[in-house]
Amino acid sequence: MIELRSDTFTLPTEEMRAAMASAPLGDDVYGEDPTVRGLEELAAAAMGKPASCLMPSGTMANLAALLGHVPRGGKAIAGAESDIYVYEGGGASVCGGVVYGPVPNLPDGSLDPDALAAEFPADPDDPQFAPPALICLENSQNRCGGRVLSPSYHKRIAALAAERGVALHLDGARVFNAATALGVPASSLAAHADSVQFCLSKGLSAPIGSMLAGDVPFVDRARRLRKMLGGGMRQAGVVAAAGIVALETMTSRLSEDHATARRLAGGLRQIPGIALDPPDVATNIVMFRVVDDRYTWRSFIAAAADRGVSLAELGHGRIRAVTHRGITPADVDRALDAIAAVLA
Ligand SMILES: *Cc1c(COP(=O)(O)O)cnc(C)c1O
Repeated sequence: MIELRSDTFTLPTEEMRAAMASAPLGDDVYGEDPTVRGLEELAAAAMGKPASCLMPSGTMANLAALLGHVPRGGKAIAGAESDIYVYEGGGASVCGGVVYGPVPNLPDGSLDPDALAAEFPADPDDPQFAPPALICLENSQNRCGGRVLSPSYHKRIAALAAERGVALHLDGARVFNAATALGVPASSLAAHADSVQFCLSKGLSAPIGSMLAGDVPFVDRARRLRKMLGGGMRQAGVVAAAGIVALETMTSRLSEDHATARRLAGGLRQIPGIALDPPDVATNIVMFRVVDDRYTWRSFIAAAADRGVSLAELGHGRIRAVTHRGITPADVDRALDAIAAVLA
C-alpha cells in the first residue's frame, strides 16, 4: 500500500530504535530522565526559547498551551480550519472553560483580518464578552493544503496580540516543513510567538511525542498541566531518544518530501477528473477534489485503496495526500498510475 493519508505513518529509523534501546533513563515526573532533559534542551534551542517540555501528543501540547495562557471564561482565538478548533475535541473548552473564537482562514492559511479584529470587543471592559486572552496561528496550515505563513505575517499578528494584550501561540505541528519551504530557521517563526508546539511524530519520523516551548514560567505551568492531564510519563527517555534523533537527522530531509509532493501534484494536474484545491503545493501536503460524476470522494478513496493507494478526506470533500520519508518518487509515479486507472 502506498500510504498517503498522513506523515504520522512514518516509522522510526534504525538509528531511532537503537537510541531508544540504549537511552539513559530516569523518572521524568521527578525531572530525572536525562534523555528527556536532553531532548527538552535541544527542542528549546531549535525554537529559540528558554525552555521546552516533552508532551505525549500535539493535541496535549496545544491543550496545555491554551490552558496555560487562557483563564477560565477567557477566549482563545483560532482559525476555523485550525487543528486546535476542528480536531482536538474542544479540549480547552471541556477541561478549562475556555471559549473558542473561531476566525475563518483565508485560502493562504492566514486569519481573515476583519473577522479577527471583530473577536476583540470595542470596549475591553464590557462585561458581556468573554475576554480574549490568546491568538493561535498554525504553520504550516494543514486544512488550507499545507500553506505556509510568512515571518512577516507572524510579526504582524504578534504586534496585534501585543497591542491587544493577549498571548500568541503557534501550533507548529509541521513548523519544520514551513521553515524548509521558507528557507528560514524554525526559530524565526517561533520568535514571534509566546509559545510553540511541534510534532516529532509526523515528518520527523519519531514514533511518539510533541514539544511545547516557551519561557520558563510558561513551561513550568505546562508541566503542571501535563501532569494534571495524565501526560506525566516516567521513563519517557525511551520516547525522547527517538525525538533527539528526529531533531538531529530529520529536519534537513523535509525538502525531499516537498519535492515528492510537487511531483505528485504535477502528475495529478494531468489527470482528467482531478482538480487540485488549492492549485499549488507549498510543503508536503497535496489537496484535490474529484470532479467526475462516477465518483464521490468516498467512493474514489475506496477505489484508490483497491488499487493500492491510501488517501483520506480532509474537510469540505477534499482529498489529502501527504508525502513523507516512506514515499519515494517511484511510489508517487505508481500512485499516479493507480489514480489515472481509477479515473480512466
Ligand atoms: C497533527 C496535528 C496536531 C495534533 O498532533 P497529535 O500528535 O496528532 O495530537 C496539531 N496541530 C496540527 C496542525 C496537526 O497537524
